[in-house]
Amino acid sequence: MTDVHTREQRSRNMAAIRSRNTKPEVRVRRVLHAMGFRFRLHRKDLPGRPDIVLPKFRTVIFVHGCFWHCHRCKYGSVVPATRAEFWAAKRGGNVARDRRHAAALRRLGWRVVVVWECEVRTDAAAETKLRELRIGR
Ligand SMILES: [Zn+2]
Repeated sequence: MTDVHTREQRSRNMAAIRSRNTKPEVRVRRVLHAMGFRFRLHRKDLPGRPDIVLPKFRTVIFVHGCFWHCHRCKYGSVVPATRAEFWAAKRGGNVARDRRHAAALRRLGWRVVVVWECEVRTDAAAETKLRELRIGR
């Protein structure tokens, strides 16, 4: 799959995707909160600054954008029409870093959970996904 974005559009999109407090992240937080979970955000003292930290359950959640973190889904398989090598290197670097952070967190005794953007398109989908994780059970 290729896309039709100009370099400028792509850069803007990337900047938006890269930022914290993304839409999927905010949704996951809201749904998790409604389910009764209490958590902290972006704890700087943990590897990779996990998006959501549930200390009580020794669990961290990363909410990953599919494109940016190379999810094996149609969104993660997009090959930008411009600067393909640049994005491939950049995304490959992210995946490698994600793996390093997850390994470091596990060594510290944390359960590491990744929730993908495409899995939480709606509140209902997010709740289903979060229940499947069986956090704290
Ligand atoms: Zn995906």
